[in-house]
Amino acid sequence: MVIMPDPTKISTRVDLGNIEFLKSAANLSHCPPDTGLEVAFCGRSNAGKSSAINYLTGQNKLARTSKTPGRTQLINFFTVSEEFRLVDLPGYGYAKVPTKMKRDWHENIDNYLRNRLSLTGLVLLMDIRHPLKAFDHTMINWCVQAQMPLHILLTKCDKLKRGAQQATLLKVKRELAGQQTTTIQLFSSTHEIGQKILLRQLSDWVSEGHRADLTSRQETSLAAEIPSND
Ligand code: GDP
Repeated sequence: MVIMPDPTKISTRVDLGNIEFLKSAANLSHCPPDTGLEVAFCGRSNAGKSSAINYLTGQNKLARTSKTPGRTQLINFFTVSEEFRLVDLPGYGYAKVPTKMKRDWHENIDNYLRNRLSLTGLVLLMDIRHPLKAFDHTMINWCVQAQMPLHILLTKCDKLKRGAQQATLLKVKRELAGQQTTTIQLFSSTHEIGQKILLRQLSDWVSEGHRADLTSRQETSLAAEIPSND
């Protein structure tokens, strides 16, 4: 069963007040030192990742850095504290993206996911109107196999009426039944829905403080082929 975030759970509250851009990395060797903890955000292009990071942190321009031309394929790091970073993984593009770019994306993300000791949780963003595309399944399956905690945001939930929001939430939860370390929530950056729950999830991960045991991870490759219709 998918576990919902527990609102009564006491956790060390993550304070994003001092978050700042740290650096962009083209590949694993350019990433900042692998100390402390990291939570990475991923999703298909246009899922609402930049907007979500900006809304979450209360800084309108923070994630825009990643949108400047040439930076869209880079891994962007943000320092929250000495011990904690947020990571903006490059968005997975549409079919129009050249094959080489897809291959590079795959290699870089695969390397990052499998080898980054400080990675303690993954946030996957899916547009609530188009959930569980091939890319999303790829990331979800990887998390299950690699035993990586996963938190899903159904983004742009303002685009649906309340009943339809709940129906989609239920449908996705049913599809993910049996995945113990997956949590899921509704989210809207424009209508400011879901910030607290997401913050609590980050806080829980940080207070649990797991650094990776890479053995299971390094054996788990990201599925090589994401169908081109995604
Ligand atoms: P990214 O490519 O995943 O970083 O997506 P962006 O954050 O750039 O958002 C893509 C588009 O969706 C932009 O036009 C945003 O204005 C829009 N968008 C993002 N979040 C929301 C939301 O919560 N509600 C609505 N209605 N639109 C959103």
